[in-house]
Amino acid sequence: MTSGDLNTSTDFIRSKINEDGDAGKYGGRVVTRFPPEPNGYLHIGHAKSICLNFGVAEEYSGVCHMRFDDTNPTTEDTEYVESILEDVRWLGFDWSEHLYYASDYFDQLYEYAVALIRQGDAYVDSLNAEEIREYRGTLTEPGKNSPYRDRSAEENLDLFMRMKEGEFEEGTHVLRAKIDMASPNINLRDPTLYRIRKAEHHRTGDKWVIYPMYDYAHALSDSIERITHSLCTLEFEDHRPLYNWCLDVLDVYHSEQTEFARLNLTHTVMSKRKLRALVEGGLVSGWDDPRMPTISGMRRRGYTPEAIRSFCEEVGIAKRDTVTELALLEHHLREDLNRHSPRVMAVLNPLKVVLTNYPEGQVEEFAAINNPEDAAMGTRQVPFSRELYIERDDFMEDPPSRFFRLAPGREVRLRYAYYITCDEVVRDEDTGDIVELRCSYDPDSRGGSSPDGRRVRGTLHWVSAQHAIPAEVRLYDTLFRNAHPDEDSGPVEETLNPNSLTVIGAAQVEPSLAEAKPGDRFQFERQGYFCTDLNSGGSNGLVFNRTVPLRDSWARIQNNQAGS
Ligand code: ATP
Ligand code: MG
Repeated sequence: MTSGDLNTSTDFIRSKINEDGDAGKYGGRVVTRFPPEPNGYLHIGHAKSICLNFGVAEEYSGVCHMRFDDTNPTTEDTEYVESILEDVRWLGFDWSEHLYYASDYFDQLYEYAVALIRQGDAYVDSLNAEEIREYRGTLTEPGKNSPYRDRSAEENLDLFMRMKEGEFEEGTHVLRAKIDMASPNINLRDPTLYRIRKAEHHRTGDKWVIYPMYDYAHALSDSIERITHSLCTLEFEDHRPLYNWCLDVLDVYHSEQTEFARLNLTHTVMSKRKLRALVEGGLVSGWDDPRMPTISGMRRRGYTPEAIRSFCEEVGIAKRDTVTELALLEHHLREDLNRHSPRVMAVLNPLKVVLTNYPEGQVEEFAAINNPEDAAMGTRQVPFSRELYIERDDFMEDPPSRFFRLAPGREVRLRYAYYITCDEVVRDEDTGDIVELRCSYDPDSRGGSSPDGRRVRGTLHWVSAQHAIPAEVRLYDTLFRNAHPDEDSGPVEETLNPNSLTVIGAAQVEPSLAEAKPGDRFQFERQGYFCTDLNSGGSNGLVFNRTVPLRDSWARIQNNQAGS
């Protein structure tokens, strides 16, 4: 297609694809790939790469391959493969029949290695790992040639075959590209192409004891799949010459690598290695702990795929690393939840209210609006009775002047129901704690409307005590104490926010929530957005995760930045 007119914004990657299209490169094809290594769960950074690769393919009527770069048997696992596929699907992308594994190419990659040896572009080195490091040189000093560098092709072929047959121990031999030990780019100082690893591979079992290195396998997998645009993060920029070298010396189909900046977020670490350490150290409940920046954690927390996609779109594609505010992600989340999640009443920290002039045994039902943003979501009936719960924070015995909620002698509106006035405070005789409020209601304020033009300043949410359902509610704060946790040194435990999880065991929620299914999302009026936990229900009872509080700090952050 021409000039990508479907795009609302043209970043440097889309400009490049447009130019390639105009020049007739790749015959107008656009084939991208998302190539995770199955050694952990995907995080929000991966979502950016997924949105870019699948998004570009969609915009240009191309295809995006889902490919596992599974070249390291010791760290990879099918559990990760499955979670990755689930997460990509959940984000809303479809690889149709294009699901691939680098391990499916092991035979072909081996043949390419044999070809490199035959043409004098690779050799078996028998230095050990430490010697190889010494010979490599440094950023300021060139490396020096291995004494094994000039082995004949015959000798190299023989040794490489015997490596493959399992004759040698790990670390005794490697296959290296023969490029240039004096190159200013260390990646070109005879990089390792194959190493011996006597480990079970999650797909190829014990068929192989030699495994290709990432750079080599990645470039050739792209070529085998006839990828046109190989989009990766900036840390691979220095590897691009090696990527090109592999494809050039073998004279195979040439994909083109283009780098873009990683997504970084405040209050978040974005490395599978660091996330795995949290899981394995028991510092979180698992990869899907709702505090984790993993896709599975965010899903459990109540994020929507739409919010993540629109966030990725707004962040866009850059050539230089930056750190994005977590508040921007949460802003996109609120925008989406506000439009789509039904509002309900839930009392997190209940205080009992008895309406002394309300008939005992009487129950009324009031129609409550499910979402004022969307009339099509309709209304529901909420029961009301003589005994209610309100939020403990909504009452103060001795309120400051700007407190407009309930206090002795004060009148407030109960949402959808009646005006009530607090007449008496009942305390526990022993502890002195407030255990109940005795109030009276005004029957003329039915539906929460003013009886005689009289105004009240506060409107409270409530639940009927006899109808309410007890629930556990989990409130979350950022997992890390500091906005830039990667800059913290020292043990990771000490960098964590000790208040990242607050469990409220005895909340009371309106009865319509009895039917909430795991993963359902709600706005608890005045409290924030919540999601039924995936393990909610049955003997666990009702459990809700707070996705995000109501207050949006993004506008304030933006204003501060504009003003600074
Ligand atoms: P990590 O450093 O978290 O382990 P990775 O880059 O090693 O991540 P891969 O499985 O190799 O993880 O990543 C798959 C793809 O996702 C790669 O193309 C990689 O560039 C991209 N990716 C990983 N992290 C980010 C990020 N923070 N922002 C954008 N893209 C990312
Ligand atoms: Mg990686």
